Amino acid sequence: MSFKKSEKLYKKGLVNLVGAVNSPVRAFSSVGGNPLFIKKAKGTKITDVDGNKYVDLVLSYGPMILGHRHKKVQKGVEKALKSGYSFGASTENEIKLAKIVCDAFPGMDKVRFVNSGTEAVLSGIRLARAFTGKDKIIKFAGCYHGHQDALLVAAGSGLATLSLPGSKGVPEGAVKNTLIAEYNNLESVKKHFEGDDNIAGVIIEPIGGNMGVVIPQNNFLKELKDYLETKGALLIADEVMTGFRSKFGGAQELLGVEADITCLGKVIGGGFPVGAYGAREEIMQEVAPLGGMYQAGTLSGNPIAMAGGIATLTELKKQNPYKKFEEIGGILEVILLETAKKYNIDLVVNRFGSMINPFFTKVNVTNFDEAQTSDTEKFAVFFWEMIKNGVFLPPSQFEAWFLSSALTEKDIQKISKAIDMAMLAVS
Ligand code: PLP
Repeated sequence: MSFKKSEKLYKKGLVNLVGAVNSPVRAFSSVGGNPLFIKKAKGTKITDVDGNKYVDLVLSYGPMILGHRHKKVQKGVEKALKSGYSFGASTENEIKLAKIVCDAFPGMDKVRFVNSGTEAVLSGIRLARAFTGKDKIIKFAGCYHGHQDALLVAAGSGLATLSLPGSKGVPEGAVKNTLIAEYNNLESVKKHFEGDDNIAGVIIEPIGGNMGVVIPQNNFLKELKDYLETKGALLIADEVMTGFRSKFGGAQELLGVEADITCLGKVIGGGFPVGAYGAREEIMQEVAPLGGMYQAGTLSGNPIAMAGGIATLTELKKQNPYKKFEEIGGILEVILLETAKKYNIDLVVNRFGSMINPFFTKVNVTNFDEAQTSDTEKFAVFFWEMIKNGVFLPPSQFEAWFLSSALTEKDIQKISKAIDMAMLAVS
């Protein structure tokens, strides 16, 4: 397998792009070697500039839930393109996508579209503060909520990949109202509330997907919500990754918990830049022009992105692939565990529906500390062997693998063979 053209583009890219990428994890820093440059993708496959074809388990870090270039999405977007790309005024499609989103999340009477998950969360946090009149926010170690200053503390995703505790350039003042708790540990949340009545809310990835996959244990989310109610603090669900992926109504539908504020991204744009935040009526009344919480965007509700989102969510609802995700995810989980056993490798697999992640550790992974016990050198060997055997994975131990509804039996067989070769290489 040759990566010559990718190598050439990488060198060229280094001239005017930082690390030749526009998002750090794409640089393959933690797995070594040069990043791959992609030429095209269709269905379950992605092809690099050297013509190497892979089954794609990155899926643009989640959005491509139907697979690449689904014909309905392509058609919807092409139709929108013919009418103009951006107007700086409202369109009917914004109302249509808003209805689909609000119908899926019972706790959302109203929604506001933005351009990314980062924007969705930073607006959701501002809204929590505006509504409660309080300043502090609790986040969990290992959860990633985008690259806004206030939440770049003990964050997963790219920071975990690069072993960064936080980000340079974030002033102390920006994080002074951010408190850290441990995932799956309600006591660690309660401690922050002792003698402190200035906490607006708790933000959580209802299923941790940025420290590898970490699943809420027992009734963690429900107990957290019940506790916050007693304190007059809000539960902010960052469903940027899990929204429309865990279930059509996100992790909240699956876990039977209704958040006060929900943040969305990824799948709702179907591969185009869209984020959203929403809540029940009384909370959303705070947002301008109705209320005094200001938030705006030149390209927010962009017509092309709205068309991509409508087509994706409409098709997703029709396909209802969540049972299929559960089946395929279950098969992959078993393959990973049995292959690791065959080669005598310590492996823990965490999976929630179509999000899956193997950790090279003996430790049961329920929080960030436990996730970090994984042997990342083994992961790097595993990663490159998967690439060589035609499976594209996130180049980091701390990113979830995603499944698309387009996956076929043949794809699963290919992934299974690759796992065998990769575990052999690790052993
Ligand atoms: N929140 C979560 C849970 C995410 O996984 C991400 C991105 O991976 C974000 C927020 C930030 O979204 P974006 O990268 O679109 O800004």
